[in-house]
Amino acid sequence: MRKVAKNLAKSLTGASAAAVDKARVKRKRMAEASDIHMLSFATRKVPLVFKPNKRAQRIILRLDHGNSSIIVVLPKRTSRDEGKRFALSNKDWIEQRLDQLHEPVPFLHNAVIPILGTPHRIRHKPNARGVVWCESDEINVAGHEEHVSRRVQDWLKIEAKREIELRAHQKAEAIGRKIKKITIRDTKSRWGSCTSEGELAFSWRLIFAPKHVMDYVIAHEVAHLREMNHGPKFWKLCGEICRSMDSARLWLENHGTDLYRYGRF
Ligand SMILES: [Zn+2]
Repeated sequence: MRKVAKNLAKSLTGASAAAVDKARVKRKRMAEASDIHMLSFATRKVPLVFKPNKRAQRIILRLDHGNSSIIVVLPKRTSRDEGKRFALSNKDWIEQRLDQLHEPVPFLHNAVIPILGTPHRIRHKPNARGVVWCESDEINVAGHEEHVSRRVQDWLKIEAKREIELRAHQKAEAIGRKIKKITIRDTKSRWGSCTSEGELAFSWRLIFAPKHVMDYVIAHEVAHLREMNHGPKFWKLCGEICRSMDSARLWLENHGTDLYRYGRF
């Protein structure tokens, strides 16, 4: 959890003041437009989303894993204020659940990790032949138990490289540019980068992101091969080689730090 918080802080200090302001305005607008209230904790703010439900017998709190928000189910004749008061009186429970949400997921037997957004279970098969192989949403790992974590990580890095290279070259071709080199790294502060020499680098952790998110990060860096800036021409080009740019950017903003959960102890 601490590490995730640090990463979050890092990405925020990296953003310009204007971008932070813009995000604040956007959040405020969102809060006004839909029924979102924020619940403040010492280190974070959590959105409360009110859902009236006639059949509910009492107020129910539920964690929305996808958005890290708290859903407050309101029975008949229950006001949002009552719902908020109920959430406030259960802050400890909410905090506990949120901590669980960001808990590290080590690469061990039975752990479930998302690969391009699809959950896969790690299966240690000590007596099997081979090293690591994937079969119907299971990652099988042979050999001694103490090697499972390292083997899974090595395999994921190779998978990440394969998936990223395939898409990057296709996109570069689409805009008439050539990639000089693609490196897969364990970067902490950015998902990808592009040099003026045409060398691209990506975080191997993108393998845990949904497909459209990986696709966007690749499109972003490939677009820099032609536009070395973040001007309107850049975003237009990026949109041309990535169909889900907006939703992917939103996903990264909300869940990017989640990608750091995997493989940690
Ligand atoms: Zn960029």
